[in-house]
Amino acid sequence: MIYTVAIDGPAAAGKGTISKAVAAHFGFAHLDTGLLYRAVGAKVLAGAEPLAAATSLDPTDLENDNLRTPEVAQAASQVAVISEVRAALVDFQRAFAKREGGAVLDGRDIGTVICPDAQAKLFVTASAECRADRRFKELAGKGLDVSAEAVLADVMARDKRDRERETAPLIAAADAKEIDTSDLSIDQAVAAAIAFVQSRIS
Ligand code: C5P
Repeated sequence: MIYTVAIDGPAAAGKGTISKAVAAHFGFAHLDTGLLYRAVGAKVLAGAEPLAAATSLDPTDLENDNLRTPEVAQAASQVAVISEVRAALVDFQRAFAKREGGAVLDGRDIGTVICPDAQAKLFVTASAECRADRRFKELAGKGLDVSAEAVLADVMARDKRDRERETAPLIAAADAKEIDTSDLSIDQAVAAAIAFVQSRIS
């Protein structure tokens, strides 16, 4: 069975948690496409050219422990503006989406550009303050030395860049179901996502 679930939305809205839970529930494979951009961003921070970094991306690059830092997130959103970088990552994402047994991809342009024919599309949002608060707790919990203000500024800067870029901007697909997680518990958000995907499967 080839079945694709596309989950898009701004930074720290809960896409990752929801995507993993949906994938586990239905037995689908999961690809966090933000990691691809983060891996390219990390290589650029280490001195590589953005396009060379994107075309030479290797699966082991995704295992770099530093990919979750705010510095790499900013570098990722900067390379993500470059249309040639995005183009270099398309085939890998589409091949993953078509894998036998079903796939969940989360990112910014999955439902609009990478998999416009996905059977189920979700757009996961939450208020900027709520998203920054969650990301702050996540990073601080990992022992990173960050301030709540800096995390909010980071999230807002990335959202602006992601929404305003010319190629594949962050926008909900016309046929996506929107889930605002601001006032939902993780369990409630996951349940809403699973119920929607189930309704699209049956
Ligand atoms: O989802 P995550 O926060 O890991 O993504 C890091 C950055 O990568 C985003 O801010 C965005 O600029 C970029 N990205 C993208 N398209 C995707 C996934 C991520 O442009 N499909």
